[in-house]
Parts: sequence; C-alpha cells; structure tokens
Amino acid sequence: MASPALAPDRILEVFRALQANRATVKRTSASQRIAKLEKLREAIQAHEPKIREALAKDFRKAATEVDLTEVFPVLVEIKDAIKHLHRWMRPQRVDTPMSMLGTSSEIVYEPKGCVLIIAPWNYPFQLAIAPVIAAVAAGNTMVLKPSELTPATAALLHDLIGEVFAENEVAVVQGDAVETQKLLALPFEHFFFTGSTKVGRIVAEAAAKHLASTTLELGGKSPAIVDDSADLKSTARRLVWGKFVNGGQTCIAPDYIMVSEAKQAALVDALRVAITDMYGADVKQSADFCRIINSRNYDRLTGMLDATVKDGGKVEIGGERDAGERYIAPTVVTNVKPESALMAEEIFGPILPILTFKNLDEVAPFITARDKPLALYMFGNDERRIDDMIANTTAGGTSINNTVIHFANQNLPFGGVGPSGLGSYHGYYGFKTFSHERAVLRQGRIDAFKSVYPPYTEKVQKMFKWMKRIFT
Ligand code: NAD
Repeated sequence: MASPALAPDRILEVFRALQANRATVKRTSASQRIAKLEKLREAIQAHEPKIREALAKDFRKAATEVDLTEVFPVLVEIKDAIKHLHRWMRPQRVDTPMSMLGTSSEIVYEPKGCVLIIAPWNYPFQLAIAPVIAAVAAGNTMVLKPSELTPATAALLHDLIGEVFAENEVAVVQGDAVETQKLLALPFEHFFFTGSTKVGRIVAEAAAKHLASTTLELGGKSPAIVDDSADLKSTARRLVWGKFVNGGQTCIAPDYIMVSEAKQAALVDALRVAITDMYGADVKQSADFCRIINSRNYDRLTGMLDATVKDGGKVEIGGERDAGERYIAPTVVTNVKPESALMAEEIFGPILPILTFKNLDEVAPFITARDKPLALYMFGNDERRIDDMIANTTAGGTSINNTVIHFANQNLPFGGVGPSGLGSYHGYYGFKTFSHERAVLRQGRIDAFKSVYPPYTEKVQKMFKWMKRIFT
C-alpha cells in the first residue's frame, strides 16, 4: 500500500505537471470545485475504517478520538466550503470614492497557483486534509507532504488522494526531511506549513528565496489561567480533556496552568478526580489514552519531567511510565519554577506543570515576557478580569472557560501570532489564505483623471488644488 519516497527527478516531474495544470484549474467554476470536494467527502467516508486503522497503527489513537479529532473536523470543513463556495468566489464590489467618479472596483479571488502543504504527525489526517480542502476550494494545484513519523496515515493519504484527484492537481509526496528540502527548493507560489517553530523558520527562509507567501501554523507554550472565581470542577474537566486528548500531543493543548497559591491544592484535587473519571484508575489500561509518537519524544518528555523533579518539582498525579509502550501517564506537577525544564520549551505530551501567583496582576506580564502563545485559556466568572487578561496579552486564539474548542468553530480564523505562527485558515479564512485578492478597477465613460494630465498648465494646477480641497 505504501508508496516509496519519490526519486528527485520524479518530484520535479510532478511539480512541472502541477505547474502546467494550474491555469486550467484556476478557471474552474464553483460548481466544478464543489464536485471535487463532494468526491473527496465520499472517499473520506468510505475510508473511515482504514483511517482508524492507520491512526491506531501509528500511535494507538482510540477510534472514537480519530472520529472526533481527525474525521469530523474535515467533514465540517468540506460541508462549510461546499455551502459557501459560490459566495466566497464571487468578486466583491468595493466603494468608489467621489474623487474616482466614473470608475467601479472589485476584489477578484484568484488561486495562488501551485502550492505546497507540509503536514505534521500529531493530527496526521486532519492537519493534512483541512488545508487541502481550502486549497482545492480556492482553485490551486498542490503537493501534499505528509509526516514521515506517521507512515501508515501517510500511505493512506497517498491512496485516498490518488483516488480522488489526478496527480497533476493534487499530488502526495511521501518521505522525510530530505524530500521536504527538495520540495522547498521548488518555486511553489504558497507554502503552507504546520509543525514546529524550528522547521517553520526553515520553510520561511525557503519561501523568501522564491518571494512566495507563507502560512506557518506553529506551536508554543499555551498558558491556562485559573482565576479564583472559576468553578474548579468544570475547569478541571475541561483542562484534562484539552490537555490529555491525543496524549497531550496537541499544538493548542494547555501547556501549563497558572493558579493562585490559595486555589492550587483544590485544583489539583479536581484534576485528579477528572483524570480518573475520564481514563479510569489505571490509565495504562484505558483504550482511550494514546501513546507518545516515538522514542525520541518519549525520552525528551521523561527527561524534562526528571529534570524538573530534580529542580524541586513535585509530581502530584501520574508520573508512571513505560518505555517499551512509550506510555507516560497523565501527569500533573506542582512547585514548578519558571526556569524549570518543563517551562523551557513546548511540552507536547501528557505532562501538565502548575505555576502559582499571589495576585492575578502578575500573570499578564509573565506571559507577555515570553514568546506569543498559539492559544491562551482563562477560566473564571469575573468578566472584567477576563476582559483585562485578553486586553493585556496576545495569543493566536483564546477559549474562555474551555480549552481547545476555538479551533472547532470554522467561522473563526485559526492561526498563531509571531513565533506561534503567521496567517490563518479554517472556513472562509482558508479560502482567503489560498487565494490572491486581485484588485480590479474598471474605467467608465466619465474620466475624472483626464483633467490632471500633463502638460501641467495653470488650469490643471487649479483643478488639482480644488480636488485637494474637496477630497482630502
Ligand atoms: P516538525 O516541524 O518536526 O515536522 C513537520 C514537517 O516538517 C514534517 O512533514 C517533516 O517532514 C518536515 N521537516 C522536519 N524537519 C525538517 C527539516 N529539517 N527541513 C524540512 N522539513 C522538515 O513538527 P512535528 O514534530 O511534526 O509537529 C509538532 C509541532 O507542530 C509542535 O511544535 C506543534 O505545536 C506544531 N503544530 C502546530 C499546529 C498548528 O496548527 N499551529 C498543529 C499541529 C502541530
């Protein structure tokens, strides 16, 4: 089933075919693109058992979690694009200023052309297909490069896309960083990358060489602030769900908690109850809790945990591990210092450090002194304090009194800010990301500008002075 990585000359051949076909795909109508999206939807639905199988093979992801976090979001995206594509593609009339009497103007949405989509391993199906949906809706040809760390899903994507699209419209190129580097050397017209900030910089550099636009969906440390006014039971359940879904390997998972010293013990108790409620007393036996993607990440995570414990961190919940299975229990650590290993980089695993504050006013300066996060969460019932936190910080996105779910509303742009990303997608924002907004002005019979053409006689100068007075 798996196709081998393409030989370098085949990569170039595929790219040239996609480039040659982009003008034809550009001219496709909304109905034609909708037909393609319908075909893609049918193929996804037909492959659902195989998608579950692939994800179980790659990192023992539970079938229900695959349905909820891999298949459902892409079906929502397809439905939304199908419903709105006629409207999205319609040229958008804009106002004409008085000084430009006699003209009319509109924005015409045209595809970027031939684009590259690079996907990560953590939601290997959803984060590959969702940008493909947006790029197809916008009328592009493309290469999709799935992650090499989830080979079963990469092979499935190759077969599924191959059933729906000709290779000169959507091509799947498998392989590792070597293939990605080869792709990055080609003059794609947009680079859409989901992955780490480190590789994001490599992609940005490559795109700059081609003067191509980029969307960088990156990561970072997303804080969750628990105000004293929060209801701790529901807060804990929502934190546990958002943190431990996908084994904590979620770009917008709450990375660390900030809570007042006074409420910390009660929050830890509520987190313990929530973990047991969701995964049982022995989480290792739960079919609903997935494993760490590979040994490198397992070693990285256990290393961070051990270093933090050495540094005074206290494991309040979990801490159990099994290298053979790449299992790390849902783990909550208190007494974590800002300079502890768990605070040095994005955790991206099932370990949740808790930091405390004396006064809520300390929190925003702590967050803004660090890289701008992909997500920020706040729990509480005091609207003023919540509004202040939003006003005094920045983040790619925010859920209030929940975690993660701002991702699920396709009417919100999804993306980071600064080191957590550049640009956004989902719904209309995805269509816009893969489109060029072309400014088109049409000159009518009345031509207001002809009165200021050279030679710049006194009459012209007077006319211009008058225009300046009236229109500025
Ligand atoms: P990664 O950056 O290691 O890999 C992503 C892709 O880049 C893969 O396809 C890989 O083949 C390619 N790649 C790796 N090294 C490369 C190199 N040297 N040159 C060129 N290409 C290279 O990321 P990952 O480990 O797959 O994913 C984890 C990261 O992604 C986390 O930081 C997470 O927060 C982030 N992420 C962000 C989002 C988002 O939507 N913002 C979603 C998921 C994951």
